[in-house]
Parts: sequence; structure tokens; C-alpha cells
Amino acid sequence: MKRPFDATVKTEAELKALQLEGLKWTVNHAYNGSPHYRKKLDEAGVKPKDIQSLDDIKKLPFTTSKDLQEGYPFPLLSVPMEKVIRIHASSGTIGKRKVLCYTAKDVDDWANMFARCYAYADCTVEDRIQIAVGYGVWTAGWGFQNGCERFGAMSIPIGPGNIDMQCQFLEDFGTTVMTCTASMGLLMAEEIDKRGLRGKIALKKLIFGSERSSDAMRKRISELSGVAYDQLFDIPGMTELYGPGTDLDCRYHTGIHYWADYYILEILNPETLEPVPEGEVGEMVVTTLRKEAAPLIRYRTRDLTRLIPGECPCGSLMPRHDRIMGRSDDMFIFRAVNIYPSHIDEILSKIKEVGSEFQIILSRDQKSGKDNMLVKVERAHELKPSDELDKQVRKKIEDAIKKQIMVSCEVEIVDYGSLPRSERKTKRVFDNRD
Ligand code: ZN
Repeated sequence: MKRPFDATVKTEAELKALQLEGLKWTVNHAYNGSPHYRKKLDEAGVKPKDIQSLDDIKKLPFTTSKDLQEGYPFPLLSVPMEKVIRIHASSGTIGKRKVLCYTAKDVDDWANMFARCYAYADCTVEDRIQIAVGYGVWTAGWGFQNGCERFGAMSIPIGPGNIDMQCQFLEDFGTTVMTCTASMGLLMAEEIDKRGLRGKIALKKLIFGSERSSDAMRKRISELSGVAYDQLFDIPGMTELYGPGTDLDCRYHTGIHYWADYYILEILNPETLEPVPEGEVGEMVVTTLRKEAAPLIRYRTRDLTRLIPGECPCGSLMPRHDRIMGRSDDMFIFRAVNIYPSHIDEILSKIKEVGSEFQIILSRDQKSGKDNMLVKVERAHELKPSDELDKQVRKKIEDAIKKQIMVSCEVEIVDYGSLPRSERKTKRVFDNRD
């Protein structure tokens, strides 16, 4: 099936040829345009002419968030300043904030990539897209907005929060697609349910940006909002790599297609920095193929995922990676075990007696010096509080965590709706040790 804004290449060989051409261009461009990259490449003993095959990517040095910090305020800049038409920044404290420059072509390429995301989510130009993500220096609002305009659907740029106005717009403007974080998606679904809007509004798709959604959370959002489960889509994406819009799961939800005609994705073992065997989990490392202002050469994203082998039923040539399984930044160490919140999330999502919201609280016993982990989780919406049932569910979760993560923890079941929901990313780990 030919989708608007899809890649121009038609075969694997054509895609590889395009990638090689882009890789050569990028190394040459960065070497000649950025003193920072030139120094790094010289130190690694690599010249642009050394890149003759895709395999030669292994010769290239890695770029990390440290390179971004050192180059603050305009890191990795590889074009003259007058070619820059916009900057975006990630949230974070000063000094840690990642700032990226964009040329006119970068903004244009990004809009095309994002338009492709709307196409893969089966949107049409008839759609009315309510964009409820943050506008400002962050990439979210601009990304969704420019992509929507490029795609040709009607955009409703409302931004996050303001639930009353969101609901009113859903009713008055006949919104068919809403884009927001998954946390806000849950908040909206609860509101749609509470206000009895289901069946009265035309909403048929939700596209979540910047925060992964668990299966349990998606199921709950679908039930409450009336939006079919397979019409919930995830757009990951990061500021360093344009912003959201560089990948999306199609309606088959067999993985997240990424736009391999714009960047190369390597999955490497974060310890050895060697490729992991196909299908195994590792760190995503990206190299851009056309990015002008701040190209990325083997940028270590710290995001963990795996490549999904084979072809998607949708027939797209664009390869797939799995959902993001956590970040090394999110990881915490508890009794010498590396734990990702997403792993706890995954375990909880298989237990039907609990909801999708949870918190992990870490504490240290002053006397014994022993660390404790408490997992607070909400009782499922439809269940009545019962001490007996809570006790059974607690045991079930404790056993599952013990079995799958090999650590002992305590579980507390709290009432549905009692854990905080936020319109942005919800904080789930509270480390009170020390
Ligand atoms: Zn697909």
C-alpha cells in the first residue's frame, strides 16, 4: 500500500544505497563544518574518505550527551550560524539542557517525517487533530503542528492541560484525533467517561508522544474513551533527533517503524558497544543521514530496545524496533540488581486486579542499612475494596516481581484514582535512600 510521504526507495538494496550515500554525506559535512566533529574524527583516525560501506560506520567515534553539554549553547553546529532558523531544547536544568539547531531544510525534513507518521496512523486530510502537547522551546508542539499542516489535516493547536477547554473542543470542533502524552490520555479518557461524552464525540484515534504507554494503561484509556484499542499510537522521538515524528507504530502494532531513509539505527550492547545479536535488547545508537545544522554521528541515546526481524503485515519497507524498554537514566539499583520501571510496569500490566498507575518508593532502614522497595499500585477501577482480595493480589505481585526480577519487595494496594496523574510525564520512582 502506498502511503503519502512514504520513502521514495522501494527495495532493501535501494534503501541501503540511500543510507550509504547519506552516511558519506554526513561524515563529510560534519568533518568540514564542525570543529568539534573534526577533532573527534581526527582523534579516532577517521577521514571522510574512509567511509566506503555501511559497515564502515563501526570506524566512527560515538557522540554522547556530554558532547551536547560541552558545546552548549549550540552543540554539534555544522553550518554557519546564518543558516540556522530555529532552535529547540529539551527540558532539564541549565547546562544539562540539550539545545539543537535547525536549518530550513531540517525543519522541512522533520515535517515530512512527521507527516509520514500521521499517514502510518491512517489519518486522512479529513481528520481534525487536537494537538494537546506543549508548545514552546520543546519539540513536541512544533513537531505535531508542522507535521499536521504538512500532512494536510486540520490542526487544533490547544496545548496541554485545560481539561474543560479540551472537552469543549472535542464536542464543538468534531475532533477526530487527539495527540497528547499517555498520562494526559488517561486523564482525558477518565474525563470523557465522567462527563458522559462517549458516543457524543467523534474522537477515533489517540497519538501519544514522548512517554511510553503500558498495555494496561492503553486498555484503560480505550475502555474509558471509547477509542478502539488498535487506534492508539505511540510516537517516541527525542530532541537530539529532530523531535517526535521519526518513528511510529502502524495499525498492526507489531513494533515501531522508524524512518531508515533519514537515520541509521544501531542496537549495541551498552557495555561493550558491539552490536547485539538480532532481536536482542540493547542501546539505540543513531546516525543521521540528512541533518544539516546538528548532525548526529553514532549518538548514544541511552534508550533500550530491540530490532524486530521480518516484515510487518502492512508491507512497509521501513524496519521496526520494539517499544522503548527503559533508559539507563531511569534505571535504579536495588540490592545490586539493575531495575527499569518499565519492567515493573510490564509485570503489573499482566495482573488484572490492579490499574495502570503505580509508584516505586525506595527507602533505607537506618539500623540495618538494608534497602527496601515499596510498590504502590491502584486497585482496578471495577473492584470494591476488600482486605482479603487485596492480600491475595499483593502476594501475587510480590511473587511475580520476585520471580521475574529476583528481588523481594512490599506491595501496597491503594484506591483507584488515589495516585497522582499529571499532564506531562508522571514520576514513578521515589528514591528516599540516603
Ligand atoms: Zn506496519
